[in-house]
Amino acid sequence: MRKKVIAGNWKMNKVLTEAEQFADNVTDKLPNDDNVEAIVCAPFPFLPSLVEKTKGSRLQVGAQNMHFEDSGAFTGEVSPVMLKDLGVTYVVIGHSERREHFAETDQTVNKKVHAAFNHGLTPIVCVGESLEQREANQTMNHTEQQIKKGLEGLRHDQVADTIIAYEPIWAIGTGKTASSADANEVCAHIRNVVKEMTSGDIAEQVVIQYGGSVKPANIDELLTQSDIDGALVGGASLEAESFQQLVEAG
Ligand code: 13P
Repeated sequence: MRKKVIAGNWKMNKVLTEAEQFADNVTDKLPNDDNVEAIVCAPFPFLPSLVEKTKGSRLQVGAQNMHFEDSGAFTGEVSPVMLKDLGVTYVVIGHSERREHFAETDQTVNKKVHAAFNHGLTPIVCVGESLEQREANQTMNHTEQQIKKGLEGLRHDQVADTIIAYEPIWAIGTGKTASSADANEVCAHIRNVVKEMTSGDIAEQVVIQYGGSVKPANIDELLTQSDIDGALVGGASLEAESFQQLVEAG
C-alpha cells in the first residue's frame, strides 16, 4: 500500500519566529503513523531552524525550489548541495507559480529533478492545467506532456521515488477545489503515463498528490479516491492546527 504524503507549501509567507512557533506547536502532536508522511516546504531562510527544531520528530522539511547546478555564478540562487547540507529532504519542483512568474519550463524542471536525485533529495514535481486548457479539453494531454518531459531520463527506481503533485492552476488559492472524482481521473491518467514510461509495478509505487484549495473540510473525500495519495497544501498549511488536522486525515 502506498503511504499518504501530506505536504504544506508555505509559499512566501511567515517570518522566522512564526515558522519556529509552527514547528514548536506541531512536532510533538503529529500522529505516530508510519503510513503518513508530513512535510513542510518553507522559504529558504527558515530551513536551518526548521531542520533543527524538527529533528527526531515526524515532520520533514522541504524547500520550495532550487537551482540545478551544484555551485557557481548564479546570483540569488540556492543549490541542491546547500539544501542537502542543511538536512533538507524534499524539494518542490516546477510549481505553477514558478512556471508562471519565473519562467520555469519542463526542461528546467527536468534538470532540477535530476539534480535533486543526484544529491539525495526527493522531488515533489508539480503539474497541472490552466482554466483555458481545461475548457479546451487539454487537461490530460497537458499533464501527460509535463510528466513525460519533467521526468525524462530518470531511472525507474527514481521515478518510483518521485512525488507527483497534480495541481490544477484554476484551483490554487481560489477556494475552487476540483471535484474529488475529477481530480482522481487526472491522477489516474498520470499514473498510467508513469506506467507507460516505466512499468506497472513502478506506477503502483509512485505517490501522486492533489493540490488546490485543500483544507481539513475537504481532504477526507479527496483521500478516499483510488489514485490520490496525499495533498500539497498552500493556505491551509499555514496554521499549526489546520496542518495537524490535514496530517491526521492522511
Ligand atoms: P492552496 O492550497 O492555497 O490553494 O495552494 C495550493 C498550492 O499551490 C500548493 O502548492
